[in-house]
Amino acid sequence: MRIPENKIEEIRAAANIVDVISEYVQLRKRGKNFLGLCPFHNEKTPSFTVSEDKQIFHCFGCHAGGNVYKFLMDYEKISFIEAVQEIAERTGITIEADEDSSEKQSEQEILYDINTTAAKYFSDNLLIKKDGESAQNYFHNRKIKIQTMRTFGLGYAFPTRDALVNFLKERKIDFNKALSLGLIGSGSDGRLYDKFAGRIIFPIFSPNGRVVAFAGRVFNEKEGTAKYLNSPESSIYTKGRILYGLSHAKDEIRRSDRVILVEGYMDLISLYQGGIKNVVAVSGTALTDEQSTLLSRYTKNVVLLFDADTAGIKASMRSIEILLRRDMEIKIASLPKGEDPDSFINNFGKDKFEEIIKRSVNFIEYQSAYYESLGMFDDVSKTAEAIRDLVKPIALIKDELKRNLLIKSISKKFNLREKLLEAELEKAIQQEGKQITADERSRLRVQTNIEATTPSQISKKASPAVYNLEREIIKLLFEGDKGVIEFIAAHIPPEEFLISVHSKIAEIVYEACTKGDDVIAASLLEKINNDKIKSYVIELTFEKHQTSKKWEEIYPGAAYEVILSKVVRDTIKKFKTSLIEARIAENHRKLSSAETENERLELMRENVELERSKQKLKDELKIEEESL
Ligand SMILES: [Zn+2]
Repeated sequence: MRIPENKIEEIRAAANIVDVISEYVQLRKRGKNFLGLCPFHNEKTPSFTVSEDKQIFHCFGCHAGGNVYKFLMDYEKISFIEAVQEIAERTGITIEADEDSSEKQSEQEILYDINTTAAKYFSDNLLIKKDGESAQNYFHNRKIKIQTMRTFGLGYAFPTRDALVNFLKERKIDFNKALSLGLIGSGSDGRLYDKFAGRIIFPIFSPNGRVVAFAGRVFNEKEGTAKYLNSPESSIYTKGRILYGLSHAKDEIRRSDRVILVEGYMDLISLYQGGIKNVVAVSGTALTDEQSTLLSRYTKNVVLLFDADTAGIKASMRSIEILLRRDMEIKIASLPKGEDPDSFINNFGKDKFEEIIKRSVNFIEYQSAYYESLGMFDDVSKTAEAIRDLVKPIALIKDELKRNLLIKSISKKFNLREKLLEAELEKAIQQEGKQITADERSRLRVQTNIEATTPSQISKKASPAVYNLEREIIKLLFEGDKGVIEFIAAHIPPEEFLISVHSKIAEIVYEACTKGDDVIAASLLEKINNDKIKSYVIELTFEKHQTSKKWEEIYPGAAYEVILSKVVRDTIKKFKTSLIEARIAENHRKLSSAETENERLELMRENVELERSKQKLKDELKIEEESL
């Protein structure tokens, strides 16, 4: 079903976000905003903020944020359309079915439907069909109960060439879509075949429980076949963004404020069946930064439980770094030799498993024990190398106190002077600092993925001062004041922003304003269709204005609107001035390397011109201010 844009806006405007969220979260008024404990991550001091003026929410802890629709989607794990319908119901607005497009499902919805149909088919093969016996026996041998098979939607793909193809044909399912989902393949003879034939099936769920992909495992091992086959990435599945089991585990993760990270599907399923439910699996890939961000929405406490083989240890070490960057508290648990989580829970039960988790150690102890086992502390040069390696991840921790405690623990353990370790740490932090700014820059590049409006702009570099002023101006655009937007639009055309993401945002806001649309932040956000830019804007609008502390002091007693318009003028003036100053400075640089007298003369003339426009700008804004 498709709901027209203006209807979506009408419904949104009819509900007050504070009232809606209050039904789920206890909010207290703090200044202009409302504050509460975030429902999306575990916290003890409230960082979940709702703005009534802007009709949006934002969590400073886990960075969740958006308008009332986004809140319902995230909280109730429903789709956008469902969120709109829910608000419509609350506000008593009826949505009339849009006749010519109501039948049209979104592309993604169709893909979800196909996966759901396939999942049901695989599950029926395993649980109902007689031919599924061999697969069921495999699970029985691994001590998996029928109920657990149901919980995780486990299934079986018959070993025949085209059982699924025929099933999909009967249901008139679009083969091209099934091909793009990797359920079926097309042979060299053009005949379609079942990709997962002969494998047992693990559906992979999104955090809100929809089937996004499948993993198929061979169970009567044949030579030459890969043990696991995974669905390819599609518009509903990005490998590095999914954690297996999260949809089943998330409530328990929140409740226990801890997550256990394991390697495989079977590890997770056996633990879950054994009563350990706060578990997710990275399943075959190295933990990604996105997975780590996803987890941090539920808890900051992670216990790694990877196999004790070399591959497992290497994976743990890599995961540690990724998790440290997200400020997670990391412990590492170790199982006795020869056991994996799956075998351990089946052999020893829940209580013994919990003891293992209780005995988990911090990453320094884990890493040093590993180096010890490699004999690295028997040799002076290797010891130095090992200690440097131990210090490196500490540099990723943002909390200085925590860093110092860990340094102390290493110093004690190896009987080394703290000063020495601190020097190593300092070096590592500097290295990391460079890394972070590089990361940040690349993040910004992602945000500015939209083409810069003019080629010359790509070469223009924004100084930190200009960058900050641009951010201030964008913040002002989201104050919800039409007059402010019009004023800014009149003085700064979109292409004048040096950061192209700012140009794009300004363009969207200006356009909404010209069209006469509502310019409240909650409504402007709906017009931005890039999620990264959306969260960038949300973070920005919840940041304090850099000048805000001074606002009241500079204009004591003035009305908010008056202050706002003064701040707008100030900011624009500063921005324009710094653009001109940057050009003047650049000309000065060019002057020193100019080769001909003519070139020099030209640059000097240009600078006189620039100085003049700088002065003119000052006067111009002054007059406007006086006429206010
Ligand atoms: Zn949060």
